[in-house]
Amino acid sequence: MTLRLPLCLLVLCASLPASAPAPGAPWGAQSLWDAWPQARVAPADPWSLKHAGLRQTLDGLQARHPGLLTLVEEGLSAEGRKIPLLRVGTGPTGILLWSQMHGDEPTATAALLDALNWLGTHRQDAAVKQFLSRVTLWIIPMLNPDGAERTQRWNAQGIDINRDALRLSTPEGRYLKAVRDRLRPALGYNLHNQNPLLRAGRAGSQAAISVLSVPGDEADSGALGTRKTRQLALEVQRLVQALAPGRVARYDTDYTARAFGDSMTRWGTPTLLIETGGWGGPGEAGRLVRLNFVALLGSLAAVADGSFEAMDPADYGRIPLNQRDALGTLVVRNTRLASGRGFPPFVADLSFVIPGAFAGEAIRRLEPGLVELGDLADFKGVDEFDAAGMLAVPWPTQPETGWASLREALQARGLVETDEATLLAAARALGEAAVARSGFTGAVLLYRTLATGRLKLEGAVLRGQLAGLPTPRQGVSKPSLGLNGGNQPDVNPVKCGTPSAAPG
Ligand SMILES: [Zn+2]
Repeated sequence: MTLRLPLCLLVLCASLPASAPAPGAPWGAQSLWDAWPQARVAPADPWSLKHAGLRQTLDGLQARHPGLLTLVEEGLSAEGRKIPLLRVGTGPTGILLWSQMHGDEPTATAALLDALNWLGTHRQDAAVKQFLSRVTLWIIPMLNPDGAERTQRWNAQGIDINRDALRLSTPEGRYLKAVRDRLRPALGYNLHNQNPLLRAGRAGSQAAISVLSVPGDEADSGALGTRKTRQLALEVQRLVQALAPGRVARYDTDYTARAFGDSMTRWGTPTLLIETGGWGGPGEAGRLVRLNFVALLGSLAAVADGSFEAMDPADYGRIPLNQRDALGTLVVRNTRLASGRGFPPFVADLSFVIPGAFAGEAIRRLEPGLVELGDLADFKGVDEFDAAGMLAVPWPTQPETGWASLREALQARGLVETDEATLLAAARALGEAAVARSGFTGAVLLYRTLATGRLKLEGAVLRGQLAGLPTPRQGVSKPSLGLNGGNQPDVNPVKCGTPSAAPG
C-alpha cells in the first residue's frame, strides 16, 4: 500500500534527533535514504548478484566515474574466482570493509555498490570531496564468490571462512588477513546477514540491523580500540533508528578467537560487525539494502569528520540485544485447534516459518511449516491473524497443492460445510499425517462456526501463508508508507502523526 502524505508532513517526518545533521545535509539519514533510488546500480534482488554481475557492475562504475575507485588487486578464491580489492579516497584514515564472507549474505554487497555510485555522482560536492580527502576506503565487496555462486554460507571447500581466522585453510581467509596485515587499517567493517526472525530486545520489533563492537579478547577490555567501535555502533544505531525506529539490535555473541571480526580487532583493526536482519513487508530486500546504504555512508562520514567520537561508549550496552526464538513469519492466534490423535479441540496460537534464501547460522529449515503451538503470548509474527471463533484442523497436502485444489478436494468429500464430528472423524482417519506439531508442513484448515452450529471452511494456512482469507493484520509494525524496493523516490518510512497500526 502506498500512502501519499503532504510535503509539509514529510518534512516533519524527517525530523531527526538534535545531534543529527540537519535533514538537508548530504550525509543525513533522511537525505541518504531519499538519494538511494537514484544511486542504485545493484540488482533489486541482492541474492541474484553473482561474481560475473559484480565484475560487470564494477566495470560500469569505473567507466561512469573515472578515477573514483581503483581496482588495486585481486585475490583468488578456492575455485579461482577473482576477489576484487577496491580503493576509494586518499585520506590518512584507512577503513577496510569486507562483505559476503558468507556467500548467502549479500545485502551489504549491494549497498556498497550503490554507495560507490552515490560517491561518484557527488564527488564534486564539497562535503564528498572533503570525505574522500580524509579517509581511504579499502573495499572487498564479495570475499566468498564461490559461496555466492551457490548461495551458500561456506566457501567451495565447505569451510565457514568466518571460523578460519587462525588456521587459515581457506584462500579467502588468507587473502583477507594478508590485506589487513599489509594495509593496517584503522577500522574494519565486517558485513553480514543474520537470521531475519530476530527481535530487537524482548518486546521489540523485528531487528532490521544488528551491530556488534567486536571484542578482541575475552575480557573485551577496550584496550584494543573497541571504544571507537562502540561509538561507531551507536552512530549506526542513530542513523538506522531515524528511519526504522526500534529496529536496531545488538548482536549477541561471545568472543570467538577463530572468527575474523574478533581476530581483526585483536590484530589491531578494531572492527564493527553489521548484520542485516529482516523488515517484513513488500520490497523487503530493497528496503534492507537501502538501510545499509544509509548506515554505511552515514557512519563512514561520521568517521571522516570525527563526529562519531561524540557518542558515549557507555550507551552501547543500552542497545537492545537480539532476541531469538520469539518471532515467526505468521502467527495465527486464539484458534480452537483439533491437533490430531483424537484430542478434543483446545485454544492455541500457531507460529509458522517460511525459510528465505538465507540460511544463517542455524540449520536450514527447508520447508515452510508449523514451528510452535500453544500459548505464544511472547511470540510475534511478521504477519498475524486472529482466528478467534475458528476451528483449526491439520490436513496433509503435497507441496504443490494450491488453495483452489485443496478446497475442491474437501468439497468432493463434503468437508467444506460440515459438522464438527464428521470433520474430526475424517481428520482422525488420516492418522499421524494429520497431527499438528513442530515441523508439520501440510495445510492447517480454518473453519468458522455458523449460527446453525455447522462449520464452514474459510481458509487455510498453506506453506506458511494464509490462503482464502484477507491479508493478515501485521503483528510487527511495518513501514507505514509504501516501499516497493526503491522505485519510489519520495517515500519516507518514518512513522509520524498516526499511531502504529500494531504493537511494535
Ligand atoms: Zn555471516
